[in-house]
Amino acid sequence: MNDYTKVPEVMISAEEIAQRVKEMGEAIARDLDERDLTVVGVLKGSFVFMADLVRAIERPLTCDFLGLSSYGSATESSGVVAITKDLGDPVENKHVLVIEDIIDTGLTMAYLLENLATRRPASVKIASLLSKPARRRVEIDIDYLGFTIEDRFVVGYGLDFDGRYRNLPYIGTMD
Ligand code: 5GP
Repeated sequence: MNDYTKVPEVMISAEEIAQRVKEMGEAIARDLDERDLTVVGVLKGSFVFMADLVRAIERPLTCDFLGLSSYGSATESSGVVAITKDLGDPVENKHVLVIEDIIDTGLTMAYLLENLATRRPASVKIASLLSKPARRRVEIDIDYLGFTIEDRFVVGYGLDFDGRYRNLPYIGTMD
């Protein structure tokens, strides 16, 4: 039986996250010029980060969501990605910003980029809160990155363990 009352150790505090998300939002807004943006959040993990990030981008934008599942169970990426919820609207000729919680092996994002390309967007950029480069299996060019972290399993700020801990206001470690 898992003990969900265990309090994860702080790796990145809520204050550090807030500061970095603000900087990322400003950088994205600067790069956009006058173009409208379609922000695509990858569910479920990105919902907390996305809610904060879009409020830090002071430009017109629309939000959409894509449900992807890359983990069959446990904590290891299987490389098998399933779309559990598709986009609500076409992204043809749109400038798309994909929002991820974490890029680990990169397999999920590689699949997503391939899938999005078939929908003919005007451009695709990536914003990820976290990156674990030590575990990368495919090269991913992250346009806006919050934090590079070591190879540890993290939870909180949208990231889960067994469906729990997404509501933790900081990034914590469980091991
Ligand atoms: P990738 O395909 O890059 O290996 O994995 C991407 C997905 O794996 C993320 O969107 C996230 O759902 C999950 N993931 C990877 N590392 C972690 C981690 O340390 N903690 C949690 N909670 N999820 C992770």
